[in-house]
Amino acid sequence: MAQSITSVELRRPPALSRAEVDALNARFETAHPTEIIEWAVDTFGTGLCLTTSFADTLLVNLSLAVDPDIEVVFLDTGFHFAETLDVMRRAMVRYEMNLRVERPGETAADLWTNGTDACCAARKVAPLERALAGRTAWLSGLRRDDSAGRADSSIVSIDRRGLVKVNPMAAWNPDDLAAYMTENDIISNPLLADGYESVGCWPCTERPDAGARSGRWTGTTKTECGIHL
Ligand code: SF4
Repeated sequence: MAQSITSVELRRPPALSRAEVDALNARFETAHPTEIIEWAVDTFGTGLCLTTSFADTLLVNLSLAVDPDIEVVFLDTGFHFAETLDVMRRAMVRYEMNLRVERPGETAADLWTNGTDACCAARKVAPLERALAGRTAWLSGLRRDDSAGRADSSIVSIDRRGLVKVNPMAAWNPDDLAAYMTENDIISNPLLADGYESVGCWPCTERPDAGARSGRWTGTTKTECGIHL
């Protein structure tokens, strides 16, 4: 997914030049996610955090093995499946996570009265902005095989804020990923085993029998909530 830099939204000059980003993407295309995370931790230190949707604990497991103190950000929209919150609780038991849960305000827009774009803006995008304030870089679990719209996602990019966004698993071979999950007993949302393509907020996640398109927002052209744009 091409990620443009919108100059009016940049917080600061990016920590990497375009040439450096290109070189890193070439270097990391066949690298193990651990190598990419090690580079990110060494380069950005406490300026780095990770975000997770708790569809599984893959990125958490990989990242805490490199840096146990890295901040783990979860955006609690108020509309998560009970199964997703249970993955978070199980992860809290297994890992000594430096967990930060960002929640929307009580009067945040919601999809029922304000529509999905306003709801995602209030419940996902704005909380992520708060979590990324003061950061230089962030890790995301985005993968190219998540959806057609993510098929050309970069491993390293500069996001619209001017932050370095690192997707360590973007190019990970699915077979290697599956093997890692088994070997490391990665916690996974049981809804995925039940046939869900992806797991987001319960009102907007396609049921397995819906004829999956992107896995979300059935009957609309919307494919992203905004946090990865
Ligand atoms: S995915 Fe749906 S419920 Fe969740 S924040 Fe977006 S519109 Fe709201």
